[in-house]
Amino acid sequence: MTNLKKNFVPVTQPYLPPLDEFRPYLEDIWDRKWVTNNGWYHQQLEKELCDYLGVEHLSLFSNGTLALITALQALKITGEVITTPFSFVATSHALHWNGIRPVFVDIDPISLNLDPERIEAAITPQTTALLPVHVYANPCDVERIEAIADTYGLRVIYDAAHAFGVRVNDRSVLNYGDMSVLSFHGTKVFNTFEGGAIVCRDEKTKRRIDNLKNFGFVDETTVVAPGINGKMNEVQAAFGLLQLKHMGEINEKRARIDERYREAFKNVQGIELHHVPTHCTKNYAYFPILVKPDFPISRDDLYDELRTKEVAARRYFYPLISEFPMYRGLPSAGQHNLPVATAASRQVLCLPIFPALAEQDQERIIETVLECAWRNRRAS
Ligand SMILES: *Cc1c(COP(=O)(O)O)cnc(C)c1O
Repeated sequence: MTNLKKNFVPVTQPYLPPLDEFRPYLEDIWDRKWVTNNGWYHQQLEKELCDYLGVEHLSLFSNGTLALITALQALKITGEVITTPFSFVATSHALHWNGIRPVFVDIDPISLNLDPERIEAAITPQTTALLPVHVYANPCDVERIEAIADTYGLRVIYDAAHAFGVRVNDRSVLNYGDMSVLSFHGTKVFNTFEGGAIVCRDEKTKRRIDNLKNFGFVDETTVVAPGINGKMNEVQAAFGLLQLKHMGEINEKRARIDERYREAFKNVQGIELHHVPTHCTKNYAYFPILVKPDFPISRDDLYDELRTKEVAARRYFYPLISEFPMYRGLPSAGQHNLPVATAASRQVLCLPIFPALAEQDQERIIETVLECAWRNRRAS
């Protein structure tokens, strides 16, 4: 507790409700003495999340990465899977842990999501599935992706780690594809400290997923698959239920910061804002900006400048997944195959956005960026 710097602004911070509100949940768990394995709060959170999100079948996990790994297991995905290099590294790691080869396809320059126009060229006889990501909670082109998957008989698993609560055409984005995977990590819009979930289409698949996250047990003595331990415990689930009660306030506070940044940066030369199409709702999970070549200083210099003002912006996603040592040897990982993702990864900077971000800190961030924008042109 001693090294918490007073003026330091992190890029994100978990929303934590007043501690007193959580005490009754803990007392109840203490009374029940049921701490994990599909306990009361676990069952309740699955129900309430289905209602809140507008989905029918949801299985909780101890984190998003195990949920991704298990989703691939549940669908028996093998061979090659087409995915985006512009994501958090867990997206490809989940493939790696299943012995599946990631095939990287470039992204769309506006949405920064997997470019549907480039998917077909990457399909081979080994391709079994697509693993797109709704980056920054901006939905992928779900209709185009569905059409391609149908044409080629491919499964679709969405990494929806960012996309909690997002709707497309007034329908949950989580209802597209065969499965969607959420993360409830402390850095995400809705958190259970660590946590995640798989959203699937039918009860039978949910049962298979529930077995897989519990070592493959279907009853006391029967194990039907080499499952894993991916179960969410009761304290996390109870915290999730409490967190859900605060989602209105969380969204409102995030929306206000988003609005303030947009207003401040809308006419700044060299700063490109990320826009969500109007048929989609937003959850304000991130505030990415692209620092273009006509901004007076580079993205990294702006990052450093913010650092000196004790503001931790993050270069999400830099490096690209395809640049990490375990992936860069893949034929699809070369920069010539991924020019748009490579450029975005060199230009993107996520500014702090979280419910408790103080007004004067927002001001400090805005002033720092604007002050850089007014500097003399960068010599090039
Ligand atoms: C956070 C995140 C994950 C991993 O989720 P965890 O709950 O941290 O395991 C996977 N994919 C993306 C895109 C993420 O942002």
